Amino acid sequence: MEMVGAEWRALKEEIARWRDSGKLVEFWWRDDDAGRPDPALCRLLKLASDSQVPLALAVVPEMAEQSIFEGLRSEVAVLQHGVDHRNRALATEKKSEFPPGEPIEQALGRLVGGRRKLEGMAGSLAIPVLAPPWNRISPALVPLIVAAGYGGISTFGVRKVTYSAPGLTIVNTHVDIIDWKSTRGFCGADLALRRAVQHLESRRLGRADALEPTGWLTHHAVHDEACWGFLEGLFEATRKIDGVRWSSPAALFAGRVGSFAERQAQGT
Ligand SMILES: [Zn+2]
Repeated sequence: MEMVGAEWRALKEEIARWRDSGKLVEFWWRDDDAGRPDPALCRLLKLASDSQVPLALAVVPEMAEQSIFEGLRSEVAVLQHGVDHRNRALATEKKSEFPPGEPIEQALGRLVGGRRKLEGMAGSLAIPVLAPPWNRISPALVPLIVAAGYGGISTFGVRKVTYSAPGLTIVNTHVDIIDWKSTRGFCGADLALRRAVQHLESRRLGRADALEPTGWLTHHAVHDEACWGFLEGLFEATRKIDGVRWSSPAALFAGRVGSFAERQAQGT
């Protein structure tokens, strides 16, 4: 996919505005719902490897099989995508594995268990970052996960603050390429690119946190050909443009980055 068409042009122009003001456009990529080895996950990892774009792979510990971590390149960072990805919200609430109604001790216990399992399987590729399923977590739980060993959290939407608690860095995603409400397929290049341009523009004009990199959110398990084609085109096109950087998730959450085991050893 070439950078042609009005929306690609708009992205190119926005990137040029950043470049003209001496600023780097920082992107990052998170993909959710990894667990079992399957053709879609293989395709995702191959895309990451071919495109050389660092990938934050959000893995569900209770669904994870050891084999998905074998041969993972060091450019892949493993994030924790909940624990079992089971919806515990009331029928009247939006879906969440960690709704306000669940006793906090119970949620924390489950998180730590999931963390240990993931750490045991992914080793040093696991970074202590929680990406809660459905991008939702009870606000009361958030400050408490620091003591459970987490240094970062990632949901969806412009972050209001950089740290949700001392030592807990927020880096969210902003462009979801799936149309969940109707087709559950690709939302279309126009819409995806428009969302990216809007986020970049908001950052540039000070309407959103300028330092929060623009996060692209994907879900390999539901990708249709249009999703894969779009991502290939996006990576290919943006890699060639001056002034764009695809940042490594480990670096973005830096400050508290390091494996869970290391952090335990250091007593942090
Ligand atoms: Zn999910």
